[in-house]
Amino acid sequence: MRIKEYLRKVEKGEILPSKEIPRIVEKLDKLNEKYSCFITLNKNPRITSKKGRLRGIPVVIKDCICTKGLRTTSGSKILENYFPVFNATIVKRIEEEGGIIVGKTSMDEFGFGTFCTNCAFNLPKNPHDITRSAGGSSGGAAVALAMSDLPLLSIAESTGGSISCPASFCGVYGLTPTYGLVSRYGLIDYSNSLDKIGVMGKSAWDCALGLSVIAGKDSNDQTSIGEEKDYTRFVNKKYIEKNISGKIIGVPKEYFGKGVDKQVKKIVMNAIKKYESLGAKIKEISLPYTKYALSAYYVIALAESSTNLSKFCGLRYGLATEIKGNADEYFSSVRTKGFGKEAKRRILLGTYIRMKGYRNKYYLKALKVRKLIIEDFKKAFEKCNVLMAPTMPFIAPKFNEIKSLTPAQQYASDILTVAPNLAGLPMINVPVGKINGMPVGLHIIGNHFEEGEILSFAGAIKW
Ligand code: GLN
Repeated sequence: MRIKEYLRKVEKGEILPSKEIPRIVEKLDKLNEKYSCFITLNKNPRITSKKGRLRGIPVVIKDCICTKGLRTTSGSKILENYFPVFNATIVKRIEEEGGIIVGKTSMDEFGFGTFCTNCAFNLPKNPHDITRSAGGSSGGAAVALAMSDLPLLSIAESTGGSISCPASFCGVYGLTPTYGLVSRYGLIDYSNSLDKIGVMGKSAWDCALGLSVIAGKDSNDQTSIGEEKDYTRFVNKKYIEKNISGKIIGVPKEYFGKGVDKQVKKIVMNAIKKYESLGAKIKEISLPYTKYALSAYYVIALAESSTNLSKFCGLRYGLATEIKGNADEYFSSVRTKGFGKEAKRRILLGTYIRMKGYRNKYYLKALKVRKLIIEDFKKAFEKCNVLMAPTMPFIAPKFNEIKSLTPAQQYASDILTVAPNLAGLPMINVPVGKINGMPVGLHIIGNHFEEGEILSFAGAIKW
């Protein structure tokens, strides 16, 4: 059942959340055995009959977002037994609107990954083919939606593509908002200047509904900006009809280059052409700094993440074990046990980048490149209303194919998502086709705070 229909039934009294939610949790529990998309399922959810925009809707939350009294691991052994004493702002907002938190979804440890294979707990499996990756890092968030027809809303997070990628691989909608639109208070940070909390759903309307609830000013997050809107009006049929005609869709040629699967290019190009029948115009554009985006992204993300991870040392935060030896010995024993391989790699790389004397060479240089990338996009948005490209260069790979990739090859898979993430732009994945049963995603990228625009395009065509 779709959320819209579920809401209608709750409103009419045909569905009682107090009866329905336990049934849904039971179903999720069964499905989880096959797909491993939850790290923690909330077996005793707080069911309120609060009236609100999410009245009675089951909501699942990526496990890097704090939920009071409900285990929050960020996909890491170092936080295996962390039960937050507070709710993230977005969780509070969801509950205030009557949403019911039913589970915490699987993810790459601290968000470090593209395939959800860097997990300290069970690996989520792609519901379209369980031998394939769900995408990362919000793999569980996408799987939870794709594995059934339950009326779920899924809250995820992106630093460099972690909403778009799993949404693309699993064939669901995934919206990453403009940086600052949604409060990050209560998010376990990966890279503070890049992290964004967003929403996944089975339709553009579901994403619009979720965004309307979670976006808004928060005095606990100084980067929160405070735009609040009812985004569902942008996916209203009448609005869409008026809105799309005459709009210009920019198609960046760099996003259709080498490394992007031929069939993916074809499906995405055909999808873009469909907007012409709604009166939109297509224009080829260039984003020349794209070629530096991966390097800049990984320098910034790793420098910031290694700083963030230093607090997990077993004193105030993280796994507490028996104190033996001096402070350094204790910290390193906790961190050796608590962090997985990829987290350790990123700590080493990030610490190297931040070493005395290297600041100008790496971090500051990457920030300059980031500025140029933002300029690239700004110029493009002077001529275009939205940009369209493939979300990922290929369909979800098989687990055994991923095993043979080096870390650098894995990082390179983010080639199409890192630039808009560096620029803090809003973007949405739209499932537009399949190759051998595996979903292909169209990426719609908007100018800052143009969530309404990308939602309107995403909702315009039924795929
Ligand atoms: N794959 C990217 C990384 O590993 C993005 C992850 C994310 O957005 N959390 O950094």
